[in-house]
Amino acid sequence: MPGFELFGDLEKKEVNDVLENGVLMRYGFDGMRNGHWKAKELEKALESTFQVNHAQLVSSGTAAISVALAAAGIGAGDEVILPTFTFVASFEAVMMLGAIPVLVDIDDTLTLCPKAVENAITSKTKAVMVVHMCGSMGHVDALKDVCDKHSLTLIEDACQAIGATYKSEPLGSIGDLGCFSFDFVKTITCGEGGAVITNNKEYYINSDHYSDHGHDHDGNDRGAETHPFLGYNFRISELHAAVGLAQIKRLPEILRIQKINYTILREALSHIPEVTFRTVPEGGEENYSFLNFFLPNLETSLKVSDAFKAQGVDACFQYYNNNWHYIRKWDHLKELKSLYPIPGEVKAGLEYLKTKEFSQSDHFIGRNISCLIKLSWTEEEVKARAFKMVEIIKNSL
Ligand SMILES: *Cc1c(COP(=O)(O)O)cnc(C)c1O
Repeated sequence: MPGFELFGDLEKKEVNDVLENGVLMRYGFDGMRNGHWKAKELEKALESTFQVNHAQLVSSGTAAISVALAAAGIGAGDEVILPTFTFVASFEAVMMLGAIPVLVDIDDTLTLCPKAVENAITSKTKAVMVVHMCGSMGHVDALKDVCDKHSLTLIEDACQAIGATYKSEPLGSIGDLGCFSFDFVKTITCGEGGAVITNNKEYYINSDHYSDHGHDHDGNDRGAETHPFLGYNFRISELHAAVGLAQIKRLPEILRIQKINYTILREALSHIPEVTFRTVPEGGEENYSFLNFFLPNLETSLKVSDAFKAQGVDACFQYYNNNWHYIRKWDHLKELKSLYPIPGEVKAGLEYLKTKEFSQSDHFIGRNISCLIKLSWTEEEVKARAFKMVEIIKNSL
């Protein structure tokens, strides 16, 4: 997954363009910039890469989710349905707006179970957020149908699936709004950064203004701009955008290498009858940033995971006891440990977390292992790794 493995002259050149004219901000200072508009250029590149009409860069993937929700008018007391397996950013971004995260079970795609989504819909539900975890995707068509039927906004968190497609359409471009993260460990990185993509012009204009204090960005005198509505500061800097501009040029190469390495590992593991792979919906193509597989039960999965660690098979994750990505260990959320008072509606809306069981999610996350695919491995290294993984799994069964 990590684009930082391929840093080089391209990144240096783009960053130096910015350092040479000294304009580190993405807006204004037209005369000083020598024609360099890195954020604008990266937005154009995102629009063409992800085949959408509009892209808005922001300061992080978490910001992208908050901005996307705000752009669609989602806020205080509204319910947003999300999966139990995701990154903590998902519920953080929802709660920042005073909205209520409603966590529901995943299925063997490792993201939202459409049936669980449908069962969780109430009169307060405004949006469904599918989180395309670990390089692949949810049942996009089924989720779209549910959203259409109930007039809900579909938001795609494609932070971990940059470059994956569903029926040839890039993930992120299919729902009403899509979100990307370009933090340091993502498929392409800006250091820190994110983006909202959409084909909806109103949502784009809302994202553009909201992420810059509500500025209307009309004309070229920033001081004279008006504020049609309240906003916040989620701007990306020119330096970060410059890194991203170099990285997006590497995306086809990154995906190509990931696919090669992934395929070698998958092929080796597929000879073990007890190993099954995560379901990729028909018509879907992963970005190959992770290889996800299931073992017969939790015990074996934990045993294999420990043996991987002990024997140097690094970057493989067993999420059952993980603090960042799975609901079981989110005690800070369940107990609402907050520095500041949380709105009453949100508190009441999260009561369910104290008692609700997620046995269907436990069933899949308990058996899953997710291995990061690195770009820097040589063919010999991947083959040796595959051999070692197979040995460890066979010995653990
Ligand atoms: C990384 C990530 C985010 C948040 O991105 P940041 O840029 O780190 O704020 C959100 N969702 C998922 C699934 C992620 O992996």
